[in-house]
Amino acid sequence: VIEIIAEHPAAMQVSRTFHPNDTMIQTAHSQIGGDNFNLIAGPDAIESAEHVLAMGKSAKAAGATILRGGSYKPRTNPYSFQGLGEQGLKWHRIAADALGMDMMTEVMSPADVDLVGQYTDIFQIGTRNMQNFALLKAVGQQDKPVLLKRGMSATVDEWLSAAEYIASEGNTQIMLMERGIRSFDQKYLRNTMDVSVIPVLRELTHLPILADPSHAAGVAEHVTATGLAAVAAGAQGLMIEIHDQPTKALVDGKQALTPGQMVSLFEKSQAIHDIVR
Ligand code: PEP
Ligand code: MN
Repeated sequence: VIEIIAEHPAAMQVSRTFHPNDTMIQTAHSQIGGDNFNLIAGPDAIESAEHVLAMGKSAKAAGATILRGGSYKPRTNPYSFQGLGEQGLKWHRIAADALGMDMMTEVMSPADVDLVGQYTDIFQIGTRNMQNFALLKAVGQQDKPVLLKRGMSATVDEWLSAAEYIASEGNTQIMLMERGIRSFDQKYLRNTMDVSVIPVLRELTHLPILADPSHAAGVAEHVTATGLAAVAAGAQGLMIEIHDQPTKALVDGKQALTPGQMVSLFEKSQAIHDIVR
């Protein structure tokens, strides 16, 4: 009987039944959740010390408090650029400190959690690892917030259960990020932003819900509309990828917004958030 109750979605620590008030996540430079609206931006991948600093400077000026960037990249093809590893973490940390921003970066393997944790403020779990249970347990043992992206074909219950893996190890500083799901038309849409899942999650869980229109749209031209729709649906923050020279980006250049496009999206998203919150 205990097992049946424990496995009931409403009995989970991440469920709103268990914890009616919104979870607030406090970092050095951000307070995420509730009525707050948080902006995260940065390059897909850390490319150089100068580049991450320049992108961070633009992101901060546009209102972002969290500087993203990957140094361990989950690439579809093993011969594609895999990220700079620890050198990238160092440059990312230096930029975040110089600018007074939080650092967020992806960790892909339980073996890397300690090393990445020596640098980052927030662990990012990517879509391909949403059900990497060993990794979820490893970040669940850390004393730092975790951003859990939705698996590209994950149901709501699978996603919440993945978050519960982190909580079950003691770490309840978890935020969820919708980044687009696999659908049938991948010619025009890299993924499909599941706008309708946002109000569903706001009801089912107390964890902050953020959205990533960059990986949903897949092309810069459609990132703004996709992001604004997510904010209208109740997303408590946005994450976008930026690059000053998108055609030269080492990863995901097609979907990178320029710093100027980011400013426009962030201004509009703030206005929409003010209306709907
Ligand atoms: C990323 O944020 O760069 C990334 C790899 O995202 P996702 O895991 O959503 O594909
Ligand atoms: Mn990317």
